[in-house]
Amino acid sequence: MNPKFESACHDRGDGTTYTKIAGVVDEDHELAILTPKLKTALRIVIDLADVERVNDAGARALHAWLDELSASGVAIGIDRVSSAIVARMNENPAFMGRATVRSFFAPFYCGACETEQVHLLRPEEVPPEGGKEGGKPPPQVCTECAANAEFDGTSDYFRFIRRIIGTRAVVAEPAAR
Ligand SMILES: [Zn+2]
Repeated sequence: MNPKFESACHDRGDGTTYTKIAGVVDEDHELAILTPKLKTALRIVIDLADVERVNDAGARALHAWLDELSASGVAIGIDRVSSAIVARMNENPAFMGRATVRSFFAPFYCGACETEQVHLLRPEEVPPEGGKEGGKPPPQVCTECAANAEFDGTSDYFRFIRRIIGTRAVVAEPAAR
C-alpha cells in the first residue's frame, strides 16, 4: 500500500460507478487497482477534490489511465477537480482525453473578511475571455461572512476550459474505430 495515494470506488445502483482519487499522484500511484472494475462500468464519475499534488510521472500515468478507460468505451465524468489537477490540465490541453470535466475548484478571496478560500465552479460558469466579464467567473458567497468573494487568480487558470468545450463537441460524435 502507498500511504500517500488513496482511492475508493462504489456503486450507487444508478448505473454509475463513483471513484475518488486523493492524496499524491506520483510514480507510486495505484491507479491500476481500479482499472478492472472501472473498465466494466457503464459510466464513471471520478472525484478529484482531494488530490493535493501531481508530479510529472503521476500526470503521465493519470493521463494514460484515463485514455485506457476511455478506449474501453466507458463514459467518464470528472468532478471537483483540485487546483493541482487544474494546473496539469492547463499544461497539457489533452490531459483529460475524452473525459468530461463537470466541476473544478478555483481560488477566491473575500476582501470583507480577508479570507482566501476555494469555490466549486462549473466550466460553463466562466465567461469566455474577451467578453465584458473578461473571462472571470462571477463572485461567490464568502464561506465566512457571506459577502462577495472575488476570483483570486489570472484568467490563465481557465485556459483548459477552451479545450473542454472543443472536447465536448468531439464526444457528441460517434467514436471512429
Ligand atoms: Zn468574507
